[in-house]
Amino acid sequence: MDQVVSELQYVKGVGPRLAKSYEKLGIRTPQELLEHFPRRYEDRSKLPKIASIRPGQQVTVRGYIRQLDYRPSGGRSLPIKATLHDGTGSVQLVWFNQPWIAKKLRDCEGEIIAFGTVKEGRYSYEIASPEFEVLDAEDDGESFARIVPIYPATDGLNQGNIRKAVSSVMEKLLPSLQDFVPSDLRRKFGLGNQRECIARLHHPESLDDVPKARRRLVFDEFLVPQVVMAQLRASTHRETGIAFDFDHSSGGLFSHGEIWEDVAKMLPFELTGAQRRVVNEIWDDMRAPFPMHRLVQGDVGSGKTAVAACAILAAVRAGYQAALMAPTEILAEQHAAGLKRFFHPIGIEVELVMGKQNAKARKKSLDKIANGEALVVVGTHALIEDTVKFHRFGLGVIDEQHRFGVKQRQAIKEKSEIPPDILVMTATPIPRTMAMAFYGDLDKSVIDELPPGRKPIKTHWKRTNERQSVYEGVRKLVQEGRQAYVVCPLIEESEKMQAQAATDLFYRLKVETFPEFRVGLLHGQMKPAEKEAVMEEFRDHNLDILVSTVVIEVGVDVKNASVMVIEDANRFGLSQLHQIRGRVGRGEHASYCILVADATTPDAEERMKIMVETQDGFRLAEEDLRIRGPGDLMGTKQSGQVFKIADLIRDAEILEDARKAAAMIVSSDPSLEKSEHALLRPRVEAAAAQRESVAIG
Ligand code: ADP
Ligand code: MG
Repeated sequence: MDQVVSELQYVKGVGPRLAKSYEKLGIRTPQELLEHFPRRYEDRSKLPKIASIRPGQQVTVRGYIRQLDYRPSGGRSLPIKATLHDGTGSVQLVWFNQPWIAKKLRDCEGEIIAFGTVKEGRYSYEIASPEFEVLDAEDDGESFARIVPIYPATDGLNQGNIRKAVSSVMEKLLPSLQDFVPSDLRRKFGLGNQRECIARLHHPESLDDVPKARRRLVFDEFLVPQVVMAQLRASTHRETGIAFDFDHSSGGLFSHGEIWEDVAKMLPFELTGAQRRVVNEIWDDMRAPFPMHRLVQGDVGSGKTAVAACAILAAVRAGYQAALMAPTEILAEQHAAGLKRFFHPIGIEVELVMGKQNAKARKKSLDKIANGEALVVVGTHALIEDTVKFHRFGLGVIDEQHRFGVKQRQAIKEKSEIPPDILVMTATPIPRTMAMAFYGDLDKSVIDELPPGRKPIKTHWKRTNERQSVYEGVRKLVQEGRQAYVVCPLIEESEKMQAQAATDLFYRLKVETFPEFRVGLLHGQMKPAEKEAVMEEFRDHNLDILVSTVVIEVGVDVKNASVMVIEDANRFGLSQLHQIRGRVGRGEHASYCILVADATTPDAEERMKIMVETQDGFRLAEEDLRIRGPGDLMGTKQSGQVFKIADLIRDAEILEDARKAAAMIVSSDPSLEKSEHALLRPRVEAAAAQRESVAIG
């Protein structure tokens, strides 16, 4: 690449100052600018006579400025008003707070072209804040009267700047651009040529050109990460892992049938069909000689713990240690307690490892893990610390995946010399396209059935001025012997403020609203021992009402709790609300979830209505994706989008094509050594390196 365009600031029309603004858009190189695609287009290809324009229309008009009305007054500038005339009629152009426009208009001698929406003005039709361009004497206006790309922009960068700079990188880079997608794949998937599609997308001759060009570039955006994931999958399947032996004839300690007998002994219920199917999928992976990388998705209450227990049991019966890692201490404790109940009857001990253990207890745990005495280990992040050494580690189960990153997955893998089997469980249903885009390297199982006897949770949406009647409803249920959760509003600023809000709500309910009941408080700033004590009190029905921050989001299981009040529910995402709601409806009682919220936006209103309407976690996740985008659903706080032009809802079919193409590429040429993949390879390597450094997945 020639020196002039290797740095963005040297691109014609950019310079050091604008280069900084481009950086805010994530654009650092001319190449990235070339791939900064329009968000939408405006069709300015028709130039109506001013006499024919009508309010409501978006128009491009051309004419002379007849009258300019602008008086700067003190610090505040009044609107600029200019009358544009074309011989058939005139229209008023109005700008606010842009004094430099007055100067530009005053200096202009020729015609101008203006674009905007026509409104009914006081004395004539008006166009407010139009985009405009002064025509050169010899200019026929064609350059402006066309389909104009509208780009994502930012402070200090206007559409004109971007259009100019994009045109200049197109001139420099496009002629020598070689397509990185091999031609046979392009043919197979009906894709246009890269160079043409980029050109069309920036400068379409007609709006009909756009979909095909866009399809190609969306495909490109999907293809590269899909190749990364296809490679990861292929390499996992080539790696030698542990082949857990469930067969006496090959030296296994326990047979498949014997392990099923243990399952029947340890579980106080029959597995559902879906649980049984998923357990079989997991065991098949465990038996196979390569390391398992499987994601188990199951809605709240679908019984993932029992499935995890079956996987752990099988590992232990084949002579290995297994670990279950949970995102919070409360959840780790609850998992430990749950697994103890399962494993105790069949004589398997469960060891709990947490950050907050005292030194002596910690040392004892670590010794038991290192000498192989502890077969089942449950813990938080503390489990992946270097001090935790296993004797014969074989299986890692990671609960609530989206809170852990790729790095943690890697760290737990390193607990064993032979790559162990990894099972990832998530209660946040992941829409299919998202799973494909972000977890393409994992095999997937879905527990798509709830245990029998679950009653639907009746969900109601109440406005904040109805709060008193909501509390009366709670009072009635508590008088009948039920328990209630009250979840306080989400405060994202800090854990401290969140805890304070919970404490305030707690005192209000305890002192003013429910003086006759036993009210408890749970928040993230409490010590683990305090949290545990409160949870125990609630579980044992020594508390009637538990006021809590969203720490209860994951895991806790109290069957007598039958009502969930969520304050300011519109601040939560749908998937999160669904998780919280899933804390009730776990026993034989009719259960209720009350969303207390005022709809501040149409979005908020729509979200509350969907919550009332459905209890299908997958549907809610799809809606979340549609309304709030993938960044939100992934729990990543990164602003902006995950993809530049691709859209996980609209472009599901293109994603599917990209996945197929990636599989073909990797199966014929796993390390991309063939000449036709020479241009693809650096892109894939860059994406793989980036994947390592971000915590998605
Ligand atoms: P998840 O973690 O998927 O939200 P849990 O594993 O906590 O769900 O299970 C939810 C509840 O359902 C627990 O009380 C569990 O004992 C119970 N449960 C799980 N599987 C079954 C089953 N097959 N039959 C009856 N109850 C079940
Ligand atoms: Mg769970």
